[in-house]
Amino acid sequence: MQKQITCTECANRCQLLVEQIGDEIVVQGNRCPRGLKSGREEFLGERVIVRGFVRSDEGEKIAVHTSAPVAKGMVYKVTLAIKRVKVNGIVCAGDVLAENIASSGADLIVGE
Ligand code: SF4
Repeated sequence: MQKQITCTECANRCQLLVEQIGDEIVVQGNRCPRGLKSGREEFLGERVIVRGFVRSDEGEKIAVHTSAPVAKGMVYKVTLAIKRVKVNGIVCAGDVLAENIASSGADLIVGE
């Protein structure tokens, strides 16, 4: 099985092609070792999209999620950061509410 993954570790956003060959996870397209680690983690399900809700200044509940999977070890930190996000005015699906939330490499965006 092959999987295409966007590395979110830096602004280069390398397109990774990851596949399992025997016992080995092979990553192609990474420009540095961080992409190798990131590709392997996401392929193995060690990275996840974080989802949650924020409240607008008018009390509306707004579904949000990260723009890319983040390492499972970052989920708690991202969840805490989501709770601190303030929304003023009207937002639409896809709007970025916080760039690089909790230094995770992913942005926080408004869901559908
Ligand atoms: S592979 Fe390296 S250079 Fe490419 S996006 Fe990931 S961290 Fe950046």
